[in-house]
Amino acid sequence: MLRNSLSICRHKIMHQLLQLYSNLMPSPCLLCGVASSHSCLCDDCIKTLPKLGQTCPRCAHPLNHNAICGQCLSQAPEQDASFSLYHYLPPIDRLIADMKYYDNILLSKFFAQQMVVQLKDRPLPELLIPIPLHPRRLRQRGYNQSWALAQYLSKLLIIPTRHDILSRTRDTVAQTSLAYSQRKQNIKHSFSVKPITIPSHIALIDDVLTTGHTANVAAKALRKAGIQHIELWTIARTMRHH
Ligand SMILES: [Zn+2]
Ligand SMILES: [Zn+2]
Repeated sequence: MLRNSLSICRHKIMHQLLQLYSNLMPSPCLLCGVASSHSCLCDDCIKTLPKLGQTCPRCAHPLNHNAICGQCLSQAPEQDASFSLYHYLPPIDRLIADMKYYDNILLSKFFAQQMVVQLKDRPLPELLIPIPLHPRRLRQRGYNQSWALAQYLSKLLIIPTRHDILSRTRDTVAQTSLAYSQRKQNIKHSFSVKPITIPSHIALIDDVLTTGHTANVAAKALRKAGIQHIELWTIARTMRHH
């Protein structure tokens, strides 16, 4: 727990320093290098990002209409609603990798700002809960990208965020290193929820929605703890595998 607190503290200091720096200095766009004074990407590159159009409101799967998809009708995910902003395609995949593995806090801020443009018009949850990393993985990486994203979303939408409600109880193998069929087994029974009073409408925050297994198990644990309305917000979504 102390290590977690130190990691959050370090993250907050880094965030404040970077905030100060980015307010003073125009930074080059991460994609084309053109100077951009207000964001880590320039306006032209922002326009070319692969935004999702209409999606299934339950699982955020891309559709050509805004109705519940066939998959959700036959086997709905645990969350009641999902929001995702981009297709997990280039250059979003690379930008998310940079955010995740190179601790790029400016990218977390950028993605939060872009998500908020669309999120602010929907009925908002009362609390944001980032999907946690297991403490061992957090120590290795020193940073949880979902915390950073949740912190910026919290600030912009004026919704509180708590990183201590949901925790990993088992150090699962990184989902990305496993075949699709193995992921479900890997993530089973790996979350616990703090026994405190939690608002009835929450949003889980994660970077990418891939198979949905991780979010599903986290949402199940929260549902068991009595939460009625669970949303899942992610930066990007992969196409569904069948
Ligand atoms: Zn650019
Ligand atoms: Zn669906």
